[in-house]
Amino acid sequence: MNSKLIEILLKAIELEEEEHVHDTLWVTDLCQCLRRSYYSLKYPLKPEQKLKRSLIIGKSIHLYLESLLLKHKDKLGIDIEIEKPVRYVIDGMVIRGYADIVLGNILYEIKTTSKIPVKPYFEHILQAGFYAYVLHLREFCIVYINDNGYKEFCMETNDGIINIIKDRVRVLKEALESGKPPPREKSVLCNYCPYKTICFEQKTLT
Ligand code: SF4
Repeated sequence: MNSKLIEILLKAIELEEEEHVHDTLWVTDLCQCLRRSYYSLKYPLKPEQKLKRSLIIGKSIHLYLESLLLKHKDKLGIDIEIEKPVRYVIDGMVIRGYADIVLGNILYEIKTTSKIPVKPYFEHILQAGFYAYVLHLREFCIVYINDNGYKEFCMETNDGIINIIKDRVRVLKEALESGKPPPREKSVLCNYCPYKTICFEQKTLT
């Protein structure tokens, strides 16, 4: 049976969801596996499925690191913005997101992971590259952090990324309109996908 605090937390998660604008696409929807985004838009996770350590821990790490940088920015002598809103329109569809950290002319996205990859995941390059493109920053970096350390991958902003994003908007829109899930984009990230069962068994959720 749920404790009083759990009930309140589940309600708070629900309220947080309601605050999200729902007439737009989020950058993460376009950068992660589009099939996963399709399922998450058709079958949103319930608050009970969101009260999980694995989902909360990434947010907590972001909050801690960002507040640390903001608190000491004067002594560190840095020009920094955190959670910078990003908005872009493609074919009448508003795309929104929040860039983790803008430090001078460089965009940083922080990713927590159980295993640091040898090279950055494509979806993370897309996300960070898109933010950097929209914010007119010359470079973007993806910083992976796990229990054993950290690694940073930096790239120059590439104008070609916008064409990939446009194409993905089209694929996701068509899938939502037709009710047919987009093709699988299999990767190691499938292991963490909450829609893994429905995706591979091709069942519909009730
Ligand atoms: S299991 Fe993999 S391919 Fe299927 S929806 Fe999830 S991320 Fe995409």
